[in-house]
Amino acid sequence: MSATNGRLIKGATGDWEMVIGLEVHAQVTSNSKLFSGASTEFGGDPNTHVSLVDAAMPGMLPVINEFCVEQAVRTGLGLNAQINLRSVFDRKNYFYPDSPQGYQISQYKSPIVGEGEVIVDLPDGDSITVGIERLHLEQDAGKSLHDQHSTMSFVDLNRSGVALMEIVSKPDMRSAEQARAYVTKLRSILRYLGTCDGDMEKGNLRADVNVSVRKPGHALGTRCEIKNVNSIRFIGQAIEYEARRQVGILEDGGAIDQETRLFDANKGETRSMRSKEEAHDYRYFPDPDLLPLEFSETYVAELRAQLPELPDQKKARFIADFGLSPYDASVLVAERESADFYETVLAKLADKVRDGKLAANWVINELFGRVNKEGRDISASPVSAAQLGAIVDLIGEGTISGKIAKDLFEIVWTEGGDPRALVEARGLKQVTDLGAIEKVVDNIIAANPDKVAQARAKPQLIGWFVGQVMKSSGGKANPQSVNDLLKAKLGI
Ligand code: ADP
Ligand code: MG
Repeated sequence: MSATNGRLIKGATGDWEMVIGLEVHAQVTSNSKLFSGASTEFGGDPNTHVSLVDAAMPGMLPVINEFCVEQAVRTGLGLNAQINLRSVFDRKNYFYPDSPQGYQISQYKSPIVGEGEVIVDLPDGDSITVGIERLHLEQDAGKSLHDQHSTMSFVDLNRSGVALMEIVSKPDMRSAEQARAYVTKLRSILRYLGTCDGDMEKGNLRADVNVSVRKPGHALGTRCEIKNVNSIRFIGQAIEYEARRQVGILEDGGAIDQETRLFDANKGETRSMRSKEEAHDYRYFPDPDLLPLEFSETYVAELRAQLPELPDQKKARFIADFGLSPYDASVLVAERESADFYETVLAKLADKVRDGKLAANWVINELFGRVNKEGRDISASPVSAAQLGAIVDLIGEGTISGKIAKDLFEIVWTEGGDPRALVEARGLKQVTDLGAIEKVVDNIIAANPDKVAQARAKPQLIGWFVGQVMKSSGGKANPQSVNDLLKAKLGI
């Protein structure tokens, strides 16, 4: 399936289609920088993680960090992409106060990773495939600090030389929603791989968002590129604003200038930064200080063999083995921690295949719901996966009803304890003993002749009786048995 059915913008001259391509900058998870041994740790005092290479002292030579290379190859494999056995580092020349080299080491014509693809699930249950154009390795820049002094700017080079992967998509997205879902999926894959932590607040994942519009079926329009958008919500807002801005210009008979724009999160608008005419000529050339990277097929095959199970595979397995709906499976596999939590719950169940769906409901609705409401992390959930597994097992085997299980969940959440022992100690067992239930049913029928007559005329009124029986049994009667008994007794 490919991306065709996005959301159209209704203009005065008819429908317009948005076309979106993203360049995502993902900081490589690595203790040291791409070409030096300096630390990549976030939040150090300014200029405390800077080697002579990062400060571009004369005569210093870059030395490639083998681990960063491995991370880029593993990412390429996770994106189902072509791994290029030979790639080249180039100098991208431009002056910027926070880049002491006067150039950025990047990859231009020969990137480490070529074409790939990402399958993106959409909230409405559809999925699209977004093509990957390339992934290349490059250095991050330092940071200018303009708010430290009234007349001077300072430079912090802690970030200078940290490894980035630039992941360039094809222009395959057709709505803000699709772009948001793509970044969410990409981030999930990177986190599973452990190649980027995806922390957008720290700037460890950020996107340049390319947007154009066209009449459906027409050739691609001229694009504008919105630089450095650092949240998934802002990516969506920037696209919505920018596409409408372009439609407005085109419908007024104007033309789109290819330009670089900035997103102003406070105003929710994009504004021009520089036009194509002002664009840099980077005078790329191969970095003479670095040899081309060359890999053997075996090296790539070994990394492939060691990849963890990725979200798509996990989702397929959850659907096939535990009967989950594609939606529930997607929710569970979105983060490795939540998938692991679910599997730990399953491990506690006597019959994993039978209760897989039940367990998914409890994990997603009760546990995630509660954890999110309290703004916690799953790892800080007061109800452990083992405890939740025990609760689900008690429901699955018919020892407690779903309603009692919610009370039990509450007890475990606030007080802790072994669910099975709690059920014993507090007498929460479901009453399936027909004799005991029958007595309650008979009493209620005898006491309410008018309701009996009504229910005979209108069978759905049986619900009232079920409610009464459940109430007088303290929620412990087995609802199915109650229903069966009532039907028999009322003759409906
Ligand atoms: P540059 O390096 O100049 O930004 P690239 O060829 O690397 O150019 O492309 C940048 C991004 O722009 C890619 O993600 C691509 O999918 C996207 N793109 C290309 N053409 C269009 C278009 N007409 N509309 C929207 N996005 C586009
Ligand atoms: Mg670009």
